[in-house]
Amino acid sequence: MTTSRGQRTIGGVVEYKGRGLFHGQEVSIKLKPQPPNTGIRFQRVDLPGSPIIPGNVAYVKDHKRRILLEKDGVAVEGIEHCMASVAGLGIDNMLVEMTGKEVPAGDGSSMVFVRLIREAGTVNQEPPRQVFTLSRAITLEDNGAKIVALPNDAGLELTYHLDFKDRSSLKQSYTISVTEDAFFEQIATARTFCLSSGVEEFIRLGLGRGVTEENCFLINEDGTTSTPIKRNKAVLRFADEGVRHKLLDLIGDLFLAGMGLRARVIGTRSGHLLNVLLARKIVELAQSEGCLSSKAVDVEV
Ligand SMILES: [Zn+2]
Repeated sequence: MTTSRGQRTIGGVVEYKGRGLFHGQEVSIKLKPQPPNTGIRFQRVDLPGSPIIPGNVAYVKDHKRRILLEKDGVAVEGIEHCMASVAGLGIDNMLVEMTGKEVPAGDGSSMVFVRLIREAGTVNQEPPRQVFTLSRAITLEDNGAKIVALPNDAGLELTYHLDFKDRSSLKQSYTISVTEDAFFEQIATARTFCLSSGVEEFIRLGLGRGVTEENCFLINEDGTTSTPIKRNKAVLRFADEGVRHKLLDLIGDLFLAGMGLRARVIGTRSGHLLNVLLARKIVELAQSEGCLSSKAVDVEV
């Protein structure tokens, strides 16, 4: 474990109200500054005792299409784009108060949280930030998807290869060295998407109730993109918005390890499952090397 700069929190309390993508329930959130070594945490202020769930991979209960965290039977979900914003902007300590289970979707990217954090400003904190420098290669595979992490002392560099096999016209690859500016300019505004073939399943499961024409797009069988409801031609923010969003998810999911990371990570057709497994592996390695503070170790696995 090496340390770099000091930790950071946000400069004040900021609020927002909106609907979650999956369940469509209106939820109010407040982002609040927190003391050093507390990490990113979510608080259900709508429940008795206002229970807190750490934004840590130890509490990931479900990772299908979004991240759901659960502690002592209390859950928060859809937290991945919020986690991406704090990871991308270098925030280490922050509390997210919520009046419901699902984090608002905003515009389907991480911009709602990026704007709130920028509005609040950032405050430097004395204790050094924990950054884990990966010392050996990790390879994880699942059903044709793969994620590889390699040592890279220079910082965090991510590559993603988007390839749906059946949609051969839509192969996209993207590499980014993760800095605050690169995240903001290249990744933060990329919206979530769904394969057109997956829409029926979403409806059957009663999900996607917060979907609007603007907050996600569909990728069709022929590689074209559509709006999710009227199925008009989608106006994308980048021609390769899909691969950029996969990197946004990866940035958020890796930060569930509870620390910064120096490594080169290459994802191929991977998603939340392999991202979460890699974050778990990183925590294990950091623990075995004696590199985690008591805060990060003291969680149920
Ligand atoms: Zn996402």
